[in-house]
Amino acid sequence: MEMLDREVGKQLYERYRRNRDGIRNSPEMASVCLICGSIHIRPKDGDEFMLVCRNCGFAFYRYACKECGKTVDGRDPLNSGCPACGLRVCTCGACGCQSG
Ligand SMILES: [Zn+2]
Ligand SMILES: [Zn+2]
Ligand SMILES: [Zn+2]
Repeated sequence: MEMLDREVGKQLYERYRRNRDGIRNSPEMASVCLICGSIHIRPKDGDEFMLVCRNCGFAFYRYACKECGKTVDGRDPLNSGCPACGLRVCTCGACGCQSG
């Protein structure tokens, strides 16, 4: 995972904290915590679908959709949670239910 410049991270944090629309389409947002603004994000141990902030401990869904390959981000308003499988629903309509 690419390390973000701290200033760039801060700008992205300010922008997406106000409006989370489109956060899934911003590759840099895989490295920015929307809770504390930290850029120290790493994959969550034992969970291929989640990333975790090393600063505040906030974990969020961020992964590539297995159906269409687009990025799914749990912080994006368009990637709502699926009550059946617990994963997020991609804009293509797929979630964890399809991959069984
Ligand atoms: Zn954080
Ligand atoms: Zn998809
Ligand atoms: Zn599902």
